[in-house]
Amino acid sequence: MEHEEILHRCFRCGYCKLPGNYVDINCPAYLAFRFETYSPGGRMWLLRAWLDEKISASERFAEIMFSCATCGNCVEHCAFPEFRDRLLLAFTAGKEALLDAGQVPAPVRDYLTKIQLHGNPYGKSVKKSGQWLDGLDVALFSDQEHLFFIDDVGTYDPRGQEIARSVVTLLQKAGISFGIITDAMNSDGNDVKAMGETALFEDLAEKNIKVLNKLNVKKIITLSPHSLNALKNDYPALGGQYQVFHYTQVLAFAMAGLTFSDKEPEAKIAYHDPCYLGRHNTDYESARMILRSVPGVTLVEMDRNRNNALCCGGGGGNFFTDILSGGDETSARVRVREAVDAGAEILAVACPMCAVMLEDAVKAENLDDRIQVLEVSEIVRQRF
Ligand code: SF4
Ligand code: SF4
Repeated sequence: MEHEEILHRCFRCGYCKLPGNYVDINCPAYLAFRFETYSPGGRMWLLRAWLDEKISASERFAEIMFSCATCGNCVEHCAFPEFRDRLLLAFTAGKEALLDAGQVPAPVRDYLTKIQLHGNPYGKSVKKSGQWLDGLDVALFSDQEHLFFIDDVGTYDPRGQEIARSVVTLLQKAGISFGIITDAMNSDGNDVKAMGETALFEDLAEKNIKVLNKLNVKKIITLSPHSLNALKNDYPALGGQYQVFHYTQVLAFAMAGLTFSDKEPEAKIAYHDPCYLGRHNTDYESARMILRSVPGVTLVEMDRNRNNALCCGGGGGNFFTDILSGGDETSARVRVREAVDAGAEILAVACPMCAVMLEDAVKAENLDDRIQVLEVSEIVRQRF
């Protein structure tokens, strides 16, 4: 297994499951189950025991390994600088080894099979991937400055589709030149890679790169931070060289050109940093810049923010496999309670997966009358 040599160096101090204040629990898997084996250090020791043949590959072991939300908190906070950057790589390698050994939790197997067969985890035809447009007038990509890349959730999930339409309307209002592709793009593959299915990831990426290169795409705006991460950091090694931006990174600089109505609703808003925009790509400010420049908005901060933010629990494929669901200590439920405690009336998100995860959590917590989850673009558009 790749990165095997770092496993024995973990001394189980446990800093990796905490944020900078050492008080809260910031590893979504450990938070949900409270067994040390779900924590980053526990995973290291479990993997080591398996490789040393002290335990065998069981369904339970596989479920623990695939419960990692790839939030990156452990990489940020591991006490050991010598190997912290390789923690997630080791966990991914462990999942790859489990896939090779045929030990795959059923929801993970179903997720990967659907992507293998259809190019997306919803099992829908890629040829119909433009249905989210629902009457919006958007040009197909030809020679515009940017391609707008929509992830699986924005393409096929009803809530994600609303968000995709919201961002499109806003980009148009801001005068940004972009086109879309409606019948040829597969999943970006970000979470497939995080699950250790490297061959499937490369297949998806190479198919997408072939389409993008044929159309001579140079600049890409993504709806999802997960797509940003894959296209920016992983596609170049496979021949896909583009300038890639999350939509908030483009919009932050276009806000000065937007005109707002005189009667803006006042609101206290907390921003939830998505792991793949924040910790994985170190952008904590673009969405905050947008929110600060919206009239009527007072930005409040949750105790855990920026590199200490608590993940919604949807990364690493958990949005689809639901391994982390159930119980009142799921990170999404803890997160919405934290937003209410910060005095927020709106919890702003910049990722379609976070939107769905946190909206479900608001319902589960019966907090509908205290807080609303809105995507950043929706907050801006409400004030025109
Ligand atoms: S902080 Fe690093 S060394 Fe300590 S338990 Fe976590 S992974 Fe191991
Ligand atoms: S990436 Fe996040 S969920 Fe996975 S082990 Fe590290 S802290 Fe826990």
